[in-house]
Amino acid sequence: TRGLAETDPEIAAATQDELKRQRDEIELIASENIVSRAVMEAQGGVMTNKYAEGYPGRRYYGGCQFVDVAEDLARDRAKELFGCNYANVQPNSGSQANQGVFTALLQPGDTILGMSLDAGGHLTHGAKPNQSGKWFNAIQYGVRRDDLLLDYDQVQALASEHRPKMIIAGGSAIPRIIDFARMREIADSVGAWLLVDMAHFAGLVAAGHYPSPFPHAHVATTTTHKTLRGPRGGMILTDDAEIAKKVNSAIFPGIQGGPLMHVIAAKAVAFGEALRPGFKEYQAQVIANAQALADQLMKGGLDIVTGGTDTHLMLVDLRPKGVKGNETEAALGRAHITCNKNGIPFDDEKPTVTSGIRLGTPAGTTRGFAEAEFRTVADLIVEVVDGLAANGADGNADVEARVRAKVADLTARFPIYPGL
Ligand code: PLP
Repeated sequence: TRGLAETDPEIAAATQDELKRQRDEIELIASENIVSRAVMEAQGGVMTNKYAEGYPGRRYYGGCQFVDVAEDLARDRAKELFGCNYANVQPNSGSQANQGVFTALLQPGDTILGMSLDAGGHLTHGAKPNQSGKWFNAIQYGVRRDDLLLDYDQVQALASEHRPKMIIAGGSAIPRIIDFARMREIADSVGAWLLVDMAHFAGLVAAGHYPSPFPHAHVATTTTHKTLRGPRGGMILTDDAEIAKKVNSAIFPGIQGGPLMHVIAAKAVAFGEALRPGFKEYQAQVIANAQALADQLMKGGLDIVTGGTDTHLMLVDLRPKGVKGNETEAALGRAHITCNKNGIPFDDEKPTVTSGIRLGTPAGTTRGFAEAEFRTVADLIVEVVDGLAANGADGNADVEARVRAKVADLTARFPIYPGL
């Protein structure tokens, strides 16, 4: 009955410090968001105690009648949100959602075709250090050199040459809308499955501000914690009954044991929130904010990969200012603006250095920032980058302190988790 602060002051303090960090810093990591109190409450509830191997109505444990309610609601709401027939809400993460699809539809040694990490793809799409790159014959496509847009001709050429069993569309740093119909055409031309990994833009899809993967994708995966604004986790969606059956067996007993029922309850809550009208407005604001941020950064002398964004994220090319991604991430961090260094396509720098940073607007938009605030954020970023360019990392301290004070003003005007 005793609370955390009493029983484990170290973890209680770390959690309190993390809350303060989230309150006081501007969060621009494109894959993060700020969930509602209701999502946290569900995730912090008693369903964490329950074993529920299997699926609703067909469990390997007794006492599942109430967690079944949660999983049924999560599945039904997911299907309604994405307009598809089947949902598996049990994957513990986006990576495990992809692993589940691979387990369902592929054999070790099969050929897969996904976007390379350095062009904007995800590790699980066939990158060398990932299981997907080790257990499959992974071929990778990229973007065109001239306009840095997805190179569909290359996808077709590689597909015709290597005849993959699966083509993967989606990634972690793709600012523009992907042509799913075109990807399906290519998949059909070689008899491949098309997997759309919409982890990043799922919230935009749910709100109708980004084309749906369906009916083009045979199967779609997503995380639930990025634009979708739910708890950390994954999900698999399909319209095809045969694929759904294979996916269910692949997740359990294929690659997972007992599902995280408290997280599934929180997924249901988040999907319920996403079905309400306010979510459409939120996602429209996410995109408007990203476009304002990109525009203002370009006015400040930075380049944006592809010249802008259709989504919640952008890749900032720092080369016009002569600074690197790693030092920029660190300098912005000292100024209480959080982002991640990110390679830009055809980057000459190592992945630990990079010539870019990736920025996203989902978290800032949740706390209430609109275009005016994001233009201010852009000005603050440019101020820090210019300080870095002029003085080097050490001489930038005055600029960073000045920006940190402005960040404090801004975050104080848009508080999060009042009363927590
Ligand atoms: N797929 C894409 C496109 C992603 O961006 C990510 C997360 O970064 C994942 C999958 C993996 O999700 P997780 O970190 O939950 O394993």
